[in-house]
Amino acid sequence: MTIATPRLPRSRDEALAEDLADPLAEFRYGFRIDEDGPIYLDGNSLGRQPQTTATAVGELLAQWERELIGAWQGWERRLFEVGDEVARLLGARAGEVIISDSTTVNCYKLAVAALDARPGRARVLGDANDFPTLRYVLEGICASRGLHLELLESDPAEGLDERQVAAALDNDVALVCVSATNYRSGFTLDLGALCAAAHSAGALVLADLSHTAGSVPVDLEGAGVDLAVGCTYKYLNGGPGAPAWLYVRSALQTKLRQPIWGWWGQRDQFAMGPHYDPAPGIARFLTGSPTMLALAAVRAGIAPLLEAGMDALWDKTRRLVALLAQRVEERCVGLGARLASPSDPARRGGHLAIAHEHAFSACRLLAERALVIADFRGPDVIRLAPVALYTRAVDVWDAIEHLAAVLADPAISEPRSRTRFT
Ligand SMILES: *Cc1c(COP(=O)(O)O)cnc(C)c1O
Repeated sequence: MTIATPRLPRSRDEALAEDLADPLAEFRYGFRIDEDGPIYLDGNSLGRQPQTTATAVGELLAQWERELIGAWQGWERRLFEVGDEVARLLGARAGEVIISDSTTVNCYKLAVAALDARPGRARVLGDANDFPTLRYVLEGICASRGLHLELLESDPAEGLDERQVAAALDNDVALVCVSATNYRSGFTLDLGALCAAAHSAGALVLADLSHTAGSVPVDLEGAGVDLAVGCTYKYLNGGPGAPAWLYVRSALQTKLRQPIWGWWGQRDQFAMGPHYDPAPGIARFLTGSPTMLALAAVRAGIAPLLEAGMDALWDKTRRLVALLAQRVEERCVGLGARLASPSDPARRGGHLAIAHEHAFSACRLLAERALVIADFRGPDVIRLAPVALYTRAVDVWDAIEHLAAVLADPAISEPRSRTRFT
């Protein structure tokens, strides 16, 4: 059975009408936006700045000034509270998520913890099209332990689905480590099916939710996910380099040990005891002192997501992604572009990939002309993310008009040197 997509806007005026009726419209005013600036479709790389961030960080600075070291008692409590708030966005329970380190470091910590819990198994499964940091971390861990990393090949647009992973599983697999939503195509896995397959082979699942959390609804508990990581500077609006989060299913916490034995993961930390003895709960996955200034910004960043609710956000995201796809088909496909996201809309996440021979030049021209901020992902993808909290249907409409104009401009085939950040 196919569910009919409710009618999408067919004109710019209809897009404007859709925005007028948008129940989430006012969340846009919660962000610092230059209304004369380019259309921002890169919130999946760096979320926009909430209006409340500067005040939240300022309050922390004032507290540091006033209370000095005495503030740590409250700050430690806040660290766990913010973890619990992120848990609510993920379908996890209180005490299952903590803010700590970077996504890369958390991936390392949890992958090693998982492998230690599955001794004697020599295979690790990943996705050849996955975000580099995951592949590199797994490569390093497997090299140092003499394990065999198998990066499963898949179509870059259609994604690595759970059936492919299931087919590669056997009782020698210790860990399956993949992104729930692919950073490039937006392909989104069925985590429940993936976990069921992995668990029946006795393997653990570590999911990277960097492009899922705050965009695509997930139910970590219902899906049976063992371990997960993700960043807070994308859809969670925590600001550049904001600390990451990690999730460990509560039933697994005391069974796992992470490899960085730091004092913040220690039971009775200030006893300064002679040996490492990990704290009983999620705290054992901490390493060193948490970044409290950055945590204040994380909290400001997730507040609007909690208020809007993931279901309402997803309703809007899906419509905006569908509108993007429809407009790309209508305006850009004749100009050498093609969709490089899953053909099945039900498999798409919160962003869309558009492949074009001159994708890099297209992104640069859109930025130089202050029209649209998109990002380029090699070798040939323009990635567009209409973030529900602050992107309007009219932004999607106009952005594709601008993209079509740039694709039709002869300047697009002029040679260009690559910038480091794309
Ligand atoms: C953005 C992203 C990361 C970022 O890792 P950091 O350590 O925070 O730089 C990790 N994994 C995925 C899938 C990402 O998209």
